[in-house]
Amino acid sequence: MKKVIHWFRRDFRITDNTALTAAVASAGPEGEVIPVYIASDWQGSHRWTGPARQEFLCGSLASLAKNLEAIGGRLIIRRGDAVAELEKLVQETGATAIFANRDPDPFGRAMEAKLERVARERGIEFLVHKDVCIHERDEALTGQGTVFRVFTPYSKVWFALPKPTPGPALKKITTPASITSLPLPELSEWGLVSTAAIPEPGERAARERLKAFVSGPIAEYGAHRDIMGVAGTSQISQDLRFGLLSPRQIYAAAKQVEEGLPPEGRKSVMKFLAEIVWREFYMQLLWHYPELLEQEFNSNWRGMPWPALPGVPDAFERWCSGMTGFPIVDAAMRQLAATGWMHNRSRMITAMFLTKDLHIDWRLGEAFFMRSLVDGEIASNNGGWQWSAGTGADAAPYFRIQNPWSQTKRYDPEGAYIRRWIPELRNVSNASLLEPPADGCSIAPGYPVPMLDHSVERDRTLDLFARHKASLTGASSP
Ligand SMILES: Cc1cc2nc3c(=O)[nH]c(=O)nc-3n(C[C@H](O)[C@H](O)[C@H](O)COP(=O)(O)OP(=O)(O)OC[C@H]3O[C@@H](n4cnc5c(N)ncnc54)[C@H](O)[C@@H]3O)c2cc1C
Repeated sequence: MKKVIHWFRRDFRITDNTALTAAVASAGPEGEVIPVYIASDWQGSHRWTGPARQEFLCGSLASLAKNLEAIGGRLIIRRGDAVAELEKLVQETGATAIFANRDPDPFGRAMEAKLERVARERGIEFLVHKDVCIHERDEALTGQGTVFRVFTPYSKVWFALPKPTPGPALKKITTPASITSLPLPELSEWGLVSTAAIPEPGERAARERLKAFVSGPIAEYGAHRDIMGVAGTSQISQDLRFGLLSPRQIYAAAKQVEEGLPPEGRKSVMKFLAEIVWREFYMQLLWHYPELLEQEFNSNWRGMPWPALPGVPDAFERWCSGMTGFPIVDAAMRQLAATGWMHNRSRMITAMFLTKDLHIDWRLGEAFFMRSLVDGEIASNNGGWQWSAGTGADAAPYFRIQNPWSQTKRYDPEGAYIRRWIPELRNVSNASLLEPPADGCSIAPGYPVPMLDHSVERDRTLDLFARHKASLTGASSP
C-alpha cells in the first residue's frame, strides 16, 4: 500500500490545497496519507513572530485537525527541526514521497533545499507545489524576461495572465492508525502569553470572513478602504498568511460578485484585487532579492544613518506603546496591541512616523510589527516598511512624507478611530484631534504632549537623505 506524507507549513486548509490534493491523488484510493505539522521549539526569542500570531496558528491547527478527522484522517504533530523530523517520519512509516506547498520566504526556501538533499539521499520524492500565490517567482516578468521592480507594470502583466480555478474540498483521507502524534501545540509551550483579541482561527471562520466581505463591503472598498474608523477592508490577511484561504478562492469569489455590480462597484473589486497583487509583487521581489530582509531595496540608501531624536532616549518605546502624543499614531499602535491587526493606512502612518519623524531604522519597526501582527507576512511587511521608509520599490520615494495631522483630517475626520483606541481622548473636541496643540499643552489629562514638531523632523529627514545622496556622488552636501 502506498504511503505519502503531506507536510503542512502555511496551508492549514483542506479545500483547494494544491499539495494536499496531489498527495491524496498520488496515494490512490487504497493508499494512506500522513498529514504532519512540525512545531518549532524556539523559546520566545524568535525575531519574526510573537504571541498573537502563534495563538492564531495554534487555533488554526486545532481547527485543521478537526477538519481532517471529519474526512477520516488525523493530523500528526511533531516538534523540532522540520527536516530531521520528516526524515524520522519517513523511516517510521516507509513513506515514499513528501508533498508540500512552496514557501516563498528565504527561510522556507532554505528548508526546502535541505529537505530536497535529504530526500535525494534517501531515494524518496519531495514534491513541492505552487499554492501560496496565484502567480509566483518568474511568472510575471517584463518583455525582456527581467524582474519588475515597480508595481504598476507588474500588475498589468499579472492581471493579463490566465487564472486557475480553485479546487474542491477533500472528501476523504486515510491516515495510518499506528502513527503516534504529540498533542496540538499550545501558546504556553513557547513561553508566550497573548492578550490580543485576535480573529477566530480556522478555515470555516476564514471562509465566513471572505463571504461577508464579498457579499457587501467589497462594492464600496474603493471609497472606504482608507477610512480607518470604518471596517471597509476584508480583514483576511491572517487567513492568507496561514493558508486558511487560498488566493485562488479569493480571486474567484471577488470575480463572481463583480459581474452583478454597477461600474463603481466593479472598480472597487478591481482595487481590492490589486491589493492581492501587491502581496504577490512583494513575494516575487523577495524571491528574487532575498537580501531585502537585510538591505535597502534602493541601493542609494544602503548605509544611511538613522540618527536618534536628540534628548528622547525612549522614542522607540513611546512609539511601540502608543504614547507619542500624536493621536492617529497612538490609536494605530494601540489597535495593534489590542487586536494583533492594524489598518493598512495606519501601518503607513506609523511606519512613516517611526522612520521620518523619529529617524529610527526601519528594520526595528519591521521586526516589531512581525512580533506583534497576527498576519505578519515577511514579504508584505518588508515591502510595506521599505515603501514607508522611502528605501523600497516605489516610484515616489523618500520625499513622500505623510503629515500625521493631515492624514487624520483626511482619513479619520470625525475622530472615530482615535476615540475607539484612545480612551483618554474620548471626550475631547474634534478640532483638537486635527491640529497640533499649542506649545507644551496636552489634549487631555493623562495623554502626552506631542513628542516632536512634524515640520521640523520632516525637514531633517529631507536633509538626511540629501546628505547621504551627496556623500555617494562626492558632491558637497546642501
Ligand atoms: C508598514 C507595513 C507593514 C505591513 N505588514 C504586513 C504584514 O505583515 N502582513 C500582511 O499581510 N500585510 C502587511 N501589510 C499590508 C497591508 O497593510 C495588510 O495586508 C492589510 O492591512 C490587511 O488588511 P485586510 O486583509 O483588510 O486588507 P485588504 O485591503 O482587504 O486587502 C486584501 C488582501 O490583500 C493583501 N494586501 C493588502 N494591502 C497590501 C499591501 N499594501 N501589501 C501587500 N499585501 C497587501 C493582504 O493579503 C490583504 O489581506 C503591511 C503594510 C505596511 C504599510
